[in-house]
Amino acid sequence: MLKEKIASIVQENPLLRNIMNLEEVFWENPDYMSFKDVSLPLSKEDINDASSRLKRFEPYIVKAFPETAADKGIIESPLVFADSMKSELEGMWGAKLPGRLLIKCDSHLKISGSIKARGGIYEVLKHAEDLAIKEGLITNESDASYEKFASPEFSRFFSQYEVAVGSTGNLGLSIGIMAAKLGFKASVHMSADAKQWKKDKLRSLGVNVVEYESDYSAAVEEGRKEAARNPRCYFVDDENSINLFLGYSVAALRLKVQLDDMGIKVCDTCPLFVYLPCGVGGGPGGIAFGLKQIYGDDAHVFFAEPTHSPCMMVGCMTGLHNQVCVQDFGIDNITEADGLAVGRASGLVGHMLRNLISGCYTISDETMFKLLAKLADSEKIMLEPSALAGMTGIVNTIATGSGQKYLLNRGIAGKEQNITHIAWATGGSMAPDEIMRDYYNKALYYLGKNQTDHTLPNA
Ligand SMILES: *Cc1c(COP(=O)(O)O)cnc(C)c1O
Repeated sequence: MLKEKIASIVQENPLLRNIMNLEEVFWENPDYMSFKDVSLPLSKEDINDASSRLKRFEPYIVKAFPETAADKGIIESPLVFADSMKSELEGMWGAKLPGRLLIKCDSHLKISGSIKARGGIYEVLKHAEDLAIKEGLITNESDASYEKFASPEFSRFFSQYEVAVGSTGNLGLSIGIMAAKLGFKASVHMSADAKQWKKDKLRSLGVNVVEYESDYSAAVEEGRKEAARNPRCYFVDDENSINLFLGYSVAALRLKVQLDDMGIKVCDTCPLFVYLPCGVGGGPGGIAFGLKQIYGDDAHVFFAEPTHSPCMMVGCMTGLHNQVCVQDFGIDNITEADGLAVGRASGLVGHMLRNLISGCYTISDETMFKLLAKLADSEKIMLEPSALAGMTGIVNTIATGSGQKYLLNRGIAGKEQNITHIAWATGGSMAPDEIMRDYYNKALYYLGKNQTDHTLPNA
């Protein structure tokens, strides 16, 4: 983008200066609208349809991934209270944080250990179902025996087809694991951020891993090009996929059941604040969309991004969405939070969520690492750095001036003790112990504790 254009954009959006200085910022979305006034191309029906599809596949999931048997093939994560972590946050920021804090542990989703086990697995299953119906392998969607998807006959059938994806790591892991399990050929185009262990894991499953020296957008572009050359190759398009988006959105239906079971009410005077780590936007976007469909104005959704990769915030703030990238503003998109290392946000998600999200905020790598250790020590939950981004949401909304202004604007100021905050923890349970130990040691370094601790808290 032209230098003069960028200069005038910065002039119009003064907060961009702080963002360009890599400061941690909180941005309230001025285009937020009451849910009843927002018109959207997708509806609650679409979420229900995705949910039914996952239900149909439950017998298959149990068969293909026996570790899901106890949950009857439902891939869902715990929602847990985080009182000790809340005390840690109060200590770190020297502020009182009324209200309750919960953590949604997508880090511990079965099969692929991250939020991508929602959208990624859903999209591969949807594609497999479409092919099976087209070829008459299943007669219709109410065919009761989806266990067949685990049969050698189906596997042989799918082996004529390929599934490809571009990824910073976790989406590749989800798509690769699921596609390989069904019998597809699978290719994962990995950006430079992708961690070695994720590539190793995929190769051990027979997945073709293509490595790039460049960032996520380039890996996606190359993957897309290569896939287009093969008519039997299906490209999972993280930047534009409605299926991924809807797969993620089902989380909202499940979360409502969990909150109901815990006796946690959501209403206008007892609202729900949800903080979602954001990369390209599909995961947090789908979940935000689902939450708004269910809770309307009582759900307040914030996206969290690294200070070095604030693509969604910059896209929404300028209204230019995927026409701008963080590099246009001199921001390098280099972060240890590999799951969020995206310089250009999804246009699909930006446009869809423009009037729905309450705001965005950024978090530095250093803060993510500090929180990684604090969470491990206080709650015995081990996460990868990206997954900590949601943890400062409560600090931003409750303990900062811009957060207080937000509460005032929404008529919630003074009712802080009634708010339920959910930090969405998006990945980490599959990281090998030695990787986690490195993360933890790095966190101790940032906290100024010089000892090298070789024993992890018993997570
Ligand atoms: C992918 C990812 C996200 C964000 O999802 P997007 O769809 O890229 O916005 C958040 N956390 C982790 C750990 C991820 O892997």
